[in-house]
Amino acid sequence: MDGRALAERIRAEVKQEIAELGELGLATILVGDDPASDVYIRRKHEAASEVGIRSHDLRLPAETTEDDLLERIAALNADDSIDGILVQLPLPEHLDEARVIRAVDPVKDVDGLHPLNAGQLYLGRPTLVPATPVGIMALLAEYDIALLGANAVVVGRSDIVGKPVAHLLLQAHATVTICHSRTRDLARETLDADVLVVAVGHPALVTADMVKQGATVIDVGINRTEAGLVGDVDVAAMDVAGHMTPVPGGVGPMTIASLLRDTVCAARFRRNMFAFPAD
Ligand code: NAD
Repeated sequence: MDGRALAERIRAEVKQEIAELGELGLATILVGDDPASDVYIRRKHEAASEVGIRSHDLRLPAETTEDDLLERIAALNADDSIDGILVQLPLPEHLDEARVIRAVDPVKDVDGLHPLNAGQLYLGRPTLVPATPVGIMALLAEYDIALLGANAVVVGRSDIVGKPVAHLLLQAHATVTICHSRTRDLARETLDADVLVVAVGHPALVTADMVKQGATVIDVGINRTEAGLVGDVDVAAMDVAGHMTPVPGGVGPMTIASLLRDTVCAARFRRNMFAFPAD
């Protein structure tokens, strides 16, 4: 499943929409100097400027106090030129992540992590949803993967990938199983999956013998190894799966494209032009 090609098309659509909507603003906040976060932020800014979104790159020192960070967020909430706000996670340990996420105006919360957006997703209502799950659903739709009544197994239960993608699959009428670090027999669950989404961060956690013949496999994992960038699913599973996303070139590009789309949705919402990616 070619995430690059679809992401390119989505970015072209977003660019067109932005040309019609007028100027959009996306602000990112990075606290500290985590090198991986730095790479992600730079990619997001490059992609944003390419489609005509003005991006604001706020960098704060690792020792920033919670009050200072909350003040910065409040200023961005009040700034009418900002449509989307993204706080890069993880935050340094002395900062209360839940409190910081709650401080972002839900209508500018392009990461979809605010409890209001997470709650709307739980209730099956249209809302801002984390970009990676939105990208995964777009890939499944692009390849006409049947979800109605299908067995969908999600490995990983993070707030940013596992839980939201499980909700979207449920909304698409799949029978959803969520596996995690305490799951007793992972292979037993994955072998039952018509659609398998793996988001753990563990190279080759899922091997070919854990995949059902013809299944659709979405590998979200990004692991830096001596052999280069690899996912969570052994590449040998490509021979068993009917469809599978490569790493890199699968979910990664879709996440960036979906973030841009989420920003357009947030802008439309603020301009009373209702439309959500998970609609
Ligand atoms: P996380 O660390 O927040 O969550 C990992 C999850 O994996 C946890 O819920 C945990 O219960 C589960 N887990 C751990 N060990 C397990 C095991 N042995 N068996 C089953 N489940 C197990 O991670 P995350 O933020 O959800 O990210 C997961 C991976 O996806 C990482 O590699 C991350 O880099 C990658 N990621 C990629 C993109 C992308 O755009 N491609 C976006 C987000 C995250």
